[in-house]
Amino acid sequence: MSSTEDPGGESGAGGSRGAWILERRPDLSAQRRALPVDRPQGWIEEWEPDATGSPQRFLTVFLTNRECPWRCLMCDLWRHTTLDPVPSGAIPQQIRVARASVSGPYGLKLYNAGSFFDPGAIPVEDHPEIARILRDCRRVVVECHPRLVGPRVTAFARRLAPGALEVAMGLETANPEVLAKLNKGMTVADFVAAAGFLRDAGIGVRAFILVKPPYLDAAAALDWAVRSAQVAFESGADVVSLIPTRGGPGVLDDLARLGDFSEPTLDLFEAAVEGALSLRMGRVFADLWDLQRFGGGRTDFPARKSRLAAMNAGQRVLPRPTREAAAGHPAF
Ligand code: SF4
Repeated sequence: MSSTEDPGGESGAGGSRGAWILERRPDLSAQRRALPVDRPQGWIEEWEPDATGSPQRFLTVFLTNRECPWRCLMCDLWRHTTLDPVPSGAIPQQIRVARASVSGPYGLKLYNAGSFFDPGAIPVEDHPEIARILRDCRRVVVECHPRLVGPRVTAFARRLAPGALEVAMGLETANPEVLAKLNKGMTVADFVAAAGFLRDAGIGVRAFILVKPPYLDAAAALDWAVRSAQVAFESGADVVSLIPTRGGPGVLDDLARLGDFSEPTLDLFEAAVEGALSLRMGRVFADLWDLQRFGGGRTDFPARKSRLAAMNAGQRVLPRPTREAAAGHPAF
């Protein structure tokens, strides 16, 4: 087997597939070693409607911590993680730094390029202090692999304001064969079980779904994006976030050369968002970060991005912009 072939094989960090994924990574050890652990990677302010449709301000903080133990094929978040666990106290300090930049947001999203409830990433002994910092937040969103959902999550939820916690989990796709090939280390049933556990505990659920993961052509990708949103909502998710699969150096570029991956077009992404919103089963958000890579050269791109942003805010499908309206749309 040449090193550019897709090995198939067993899933997980230690399996042949995990090794194949690791082999394709550039060596970023030096810059990862130099990451300061007393500051987050960054933070942004965002608005999104709550369950009643009322717009709410969020501070999204990208925490600096150790790499996730899974090796998902499409994931490049490891690039911004440390090689070793961060010391106790570092994560609360990072949150303080970000919170000092804004006053009184409605909610916080703490994204740590892995799982908040991975004790190797966020020291468990820091949970009480993190909860103390967040005690006035009406919504706290953290991300977690479904296999790490359990009593540690409910214990943390009890430290926050009642009903404040929401856990974001990557379903990625409900297509079982593709999910296995993504090396996510879980099945659709694992996601459903984790979502059910969270719902029963009164904890909110947000699902991340990839639009056009590898191994699906455009038609199948659209179908599976909408079906995956339906599975997530039926499992108890309140929110589905649709993420266009972004290529990059490493495995995805190799799969592109093998004909097993291409990024979604803007049209396909829009159709997936329209399809998921049309289910009317919960809130649907289109991930607009770096959207220009999927159509930034088009003259109508600003109007189309604005439409998706308006659909995020209003939670309904809006008409696609006409050519005339798109031409008159201010650039941004
Ligand atoms: S579980 Fe999430 S953070 Fe970890 S490798 Fe997979 S996609 Fe990346």
